Parts: sequence; structure tokens; C-alpha cells
Amino acid sequence: MTDSRYNVIVIGGGIVGLSVALEISRRFPHQKLLVVEKEKRIARHQSGHNSGVIHSGVYYKPGSLKARLCVSGAAAMVQFCSEHGIPHEVCGKIVVATSEDELARLEEIHRRGKANGLSGLSIIGREQLREIEPHSAGLQALIVPSTGITDYALVSAKYAELITANGGTVLTSAEVIGVRRLANEIVVETRRGSFSTLAMINCAGLFSDRISLMAGDDPGLRIVPFRGEYYDLVPERTSLVRALIYPVPDPSFPFLGVHFTRRINGTVDAGPNAVLALAREGYRHSNINLRDVSSCITFSGFWRMARRHWRMGLDEWHRSLSRAAFVRGLQKLVPEIREQDLVPGGSGVRAQALKPDGALVDDFHFVSSGKVLHVLNVPSPAATASLAIGRTIIETAAANLGLS
Ligand SMILES: Cc1cc2nc3c(=O)[nH]c(=O)nc-3n(C[C@H](O)[C@H](O)[C@H](O)COP(=O)(O)OP(=O)(O)OC[C@H]3O[C@@H](n4cnc5c(N)ncnc54)[C@H](O)[C@@H]3O)c2cc1C
Repeated sequence: MTDSRYNVIVIGGGIVGLSVALEISRRFPHQKLLVVEKEKRIARHQSGHNSGVIHSGVYYKPGSLKARLCVSGAAAMVQFCSEHGIPHEVCGKIVVATSEDELARLEEIHRRGKANGLSGLSIIGREQLREIEPHSAGLQALIVPSTGITDYALVSAKYAELITANGGTVLTSAEVIGVRRLANEIVVETRRGSFSTLAMINCAGLFSDRISLMAGDDPGLRIVPFRGEYYDLVPERTSLVRALIYPVPDPSFPFLGVHFTRRINGTVDAGPNAVLALAREGYRHSNINLRDVSSCITFSGFWRMARRHWRMGLDEWHRSLSRAAFVRGLQKLVPEIREQDLVPGGSGVRAQALKPDGALVDDFHFVSSGKVLHVLNVPSPAATASLAIGRTIIETAAANLGLS
């Protein structure tokens, strides 16, 4: 039986909602806590459809939330996985510059990584690169030894298990369909009934802007879904990649560029690209949701973004529809890769917040409104940073949310 009155309700059973709930259950075990998730199981969206990389924090602007929470979150994630027997490996990665114009950008990433407090970074030449990744080619590469891999669906499941052990409740198949704010309480209406609460935290990922509107708060931005598609390397060619091989990312875009990832289960995949999806949960080209499309095209920021990034957008669509184009991108990093080495893999959809001026929100973004807190932008590396995000949100918002 589920009680209908709570001190705090967290909306969204992804890795961020669960980490926030875990932090509450640890710090305030006497507060009645409920997590509501619309799917039958937790971590069915971004948290279960990602690259599984424990990012080091090398890319992000020093001082940003992403930089600080990724660096501390990565260390916490490795420790959490060790403590709870979750498979993980700190395998390191390389970021490879394949053209002269990428060398200065590689240097800038190196500088940022040092400013963010990472140790062991070094720029290496062609010969050393071949010793680390014998099939990779490039002019120079940055070695990032603290990067790792894990399985964030398993991490999320462990968070949920600990929340329950600490006395909290995780309720699935409980889509939130309405939020009513009364004088002294908030009523959260779900497909499994209505629950009243003193405080609410919105961690609804791809739908966080809609939950914000439901709660009567204009989020001032729109969530735009970017699908990331993967190919798997056929088993006989996984030896082309030892660990993680990344390109130098385009600084005007918040995505890292298609890369090779060795998964914790030993398979290797290539991707993800970043294609504008026609549905917020659009894992395939054929998934089209008219409400989601309309919510994009009626937002002024969408057209401003389109004007700014149309060329990149078309390239991504082309690469998405043509395996040959996808492979050409990968050959810059591993020249031996051929079309027949790849089979279609999975996909994931990123929740990326877009501002009315057409800028993609770069940093993590949380907004509080009375006894409600909205987590509006937590793209990659938020899985890595999840424990640090949970801790930071609760440290800064506990008093406002009436948690003590
Ligand atoms: C392709 C891809 C690759 C990535 N790679 C990495 C990586 O290697 N490393 C890394 O650190 N990060 C990575 N990320 C980012 C990371 O996965 C996300 O930042 C993180 O999972 C976000 O977690 P979340 O809980 O906010 O979102 P989600 O996991 O999407 O959770 C939100 C939850 O809210 C639920 N929900 C939505 N609406 C409602 C409603 N009305 N009622 C109830 N519940 C609702 C959804 O069902 C969902 O379960 C990647 C993301 C993608 C898509």
C-alpha cells in the first residue's frame, strides 16, 4: 500500500531523480519520500540508453557546475561502484586530433582539464598514440587516464534499492498528469492516484519543462530531443579498439562527436551522433509525435538555433541515414574501420534545454520556486555526476524545500 501524504515527492526515476532521492533518504531518513516514475521500470530513458562512460571532467568550462560536479561525481561514482560490486573499469581515454586546425582545440581541452584539477593528462604524438591504441591515427592525442566505464542502468537500480532500504518508496507506472499547488501542500496527480506532499522535485528528463508548466512555473526554455544512434562493432573487429577513442569536439555544440566506446560487457560501439528527434522518446526515425514536433517549432528559440546550426544539423541527418557517411567520420579516428565491421546498435535520446535566443543551455540548470525545485538541464555528464548532483541539490535546496 502506498501512503498518500509525503514530505517530498521526486518526479522521475532516472539516475538524477534517484540520486536526489537517495541523498534525501540518507540525510533525512525520517522524512516520507516518494519517487514517481511513469514507466514500468526505472531508468528506461536516458539513464538506460547512454554510453556508460564515467567522464573525467576534462572538457567543461572551469568553475561551471558541469566541471565541478563531473570531477567530484566521477570519483564518487568509482567509489560507489566499488562499494556495491557494480562492474566498472577506469580504462582511460584518448582524444585524437586528426587535422591541423584541431591542435589548438586539443590544447585548450588540455588546459581546461588541468584547470579542473585532473591529473595525469598529457599530449602525445603519433608514435605514442599507436602504442596506446594501435589502430588509431591522428596528429596528436590527449591522454585522459581517469575516464572509466560502467553500466548506469545497474547504478540506477542500486540507487533505487538503497532508497527503499532507507525507507523511501519508488512507485513505477505512475505518470504524473497534473500538479496542484495549494496553500500548504502540493497535490501530485498520477496514473496511480493522487499524493499530497510538502515539497516536490522535478527530475523528469525529457519532460522536465512540461512538468514545470504543470506546476505553474514557466521554465523559460524548451527541451529539445537529440537522438544519439550507435553502431556495434562485429565481434571479430572489436580488437580495433582497446578502450575509448574520441575526436576533438566542436566547441559550438554540446555533444562530443561520434567516438568508439568499449563497454563494460566487452562489446565495442561507435556513436552516438546527435540527430534532432521528431519525438521526445523517439528512438527510431519512424517515431513521430506531433505534440513534441509542435512544441519545438512553435518555440522561437528553435528557429534561432536552426539558423545557427543548420549545416551541422543536415550533416547529422546525412550521417544518420547513410552508413557510409557515418563510417567516413569514424575512419578519421580508426582508418581500418569498414562498413561491414558495423551493425546497427541501440540509440538514446538526450534532453537538451534550449533558450529563447536559440542557445543550447550548456551547464546543468536547476530552478527553485517555493517548495518546488525543477531540474531543467542535466545532459551528459549527468550520469557520471549524479551522486554529486544529488548532494549539491539537497545541500543548497534542503532549507527551501522544508527538509530538516
Ligand atoms: C545517447 C546518450 C549517451 C550518453 N552518454 C553518457 C555517458 O557516457 N556518460 C554520462 O555521464 N552521461 C551520458 N549521457 C547523459 C546521461 O545519460 C543523462 O544526463 C542522465 O541519464 C539524465 O538522467 P535523468 O534522470 O535526468 O533523465 P532520465 O533518465 O531520462 O530520467 C527521467 C525520468 O523521468 C520520467 N518521467 C518523465 N515524465 C514523467 C512524468 N510525467 N511522470 C513520471 N515520470 C516521468 C521518465 O520516464 C524517466 O525515467 C548520455 C545520454 C544519452 C542520451
